[in-house]
Amino acid sequence: MSRHHTRWRNGAGAKARARLARTLPAPCCRCGKPVTAEMRWEADHIVALDQWPESKPYPDSLIRAAHKSCNRAHGGRIGAAKTNAKKKADKKGAMPW
Ligand SMILES: [Zn+2]
Repeated sequence: MSRHHTRWRNGAGAKARARLARTLPAPCCRCGKPVTAEMRWEADHIVALDQWPESKPYPDSLIRAAHKSCNRAHGGRIGAAKTNAKKKADKKGAMPW
């Protein structure tokens, strides 16, 4: 798995989210519309973790609230590619020949 996921699981993500939760409502860092606690939102990284030097701690100031859909639209490329590939495969499988 990518570094992004390893680092995200070590608890830093949950902490950042808890910290951000206290700042809501706040503008979404992707679309600029307000994110409220009632919405589905995630802690998003202004600089991708993959691009951040491993030797430096990731600053909280670079973690912002984003709508879940906005965050996914940005960072979900691998997931989307997988889904698309699966869709294609399903179509193929459904063909009569
Ligand atoms: Zn948004």
